[in-house]
Amino acid sequence: MGHRPGRDRRISTHVALAARALGADGIIFSEYSAKKTKKSLEKVNRKWGGSFFVEGDENWREVIQDWHSSGGKVVHLSMYGLPLGEEVPKLRGDDILIIVGAEKVPSEVYELADLNISVGNQPHSEISAMAIFLDRFFDGKELGKNFSGAKRKIVPSNSGKEVKKVSD
Ligand code: SAM
Repeated sequence: MGHRPGRDRRISTHVALAARALGADGIIFSEYSAKKTKKSLEKVNRKWGGSFFVEGDENWREVIQDWHSSGGKVVHLSMYGLPLGEEVPKLRGDDILIIVGAEKVPSEVYELADLNISVGNQPHSEISAMAIFLDRFFDGKELGKNFSGAKRKIVPSNSGKEVKKVSD
């Protein structure tokens, strides 16, 4: 939420990249058309696999409402929320909408969220908060996720870059 044109494009793309790499299915931006972010993520999907989606210019109240109607849980990440370590085990198995802000988030979001969760009580960033939340939520297993349809796969190496082509 709250993408600031001009200033936040790179960071918003990085929120999307981190969300994709750490197991989220997609990202929904309010107040941002996200056309360039969508294009870059489609390029990443084509090369590295998976079907991560990017939606832009959505109305956040409607997104929250729809998520609730389909039985999912809404988690807002904020330095003022309840401790991550205590809350995440209660969420495992749920379909989660994670809300992070680029700037001050309207107070209504704190009320509409099922949970306001903090990743420590110091200010940091929407990327780190979301990445740590996802890692705890998936218990680290997301790092071994298979991204189907990848054209390239990395062969982990201690020296240089080793990449192999994957045939269809
Ligand atoms: N100035 C904003 C405010 O006062 O709300 C803070 C913006 S902060 C740079 C951007 C986003 O990072 C926040 O909306 C929140 O989602 C996330 N964030 C930063 N620190 C956090 C923390 N300790 N725990 C959880 N989320 C955090």
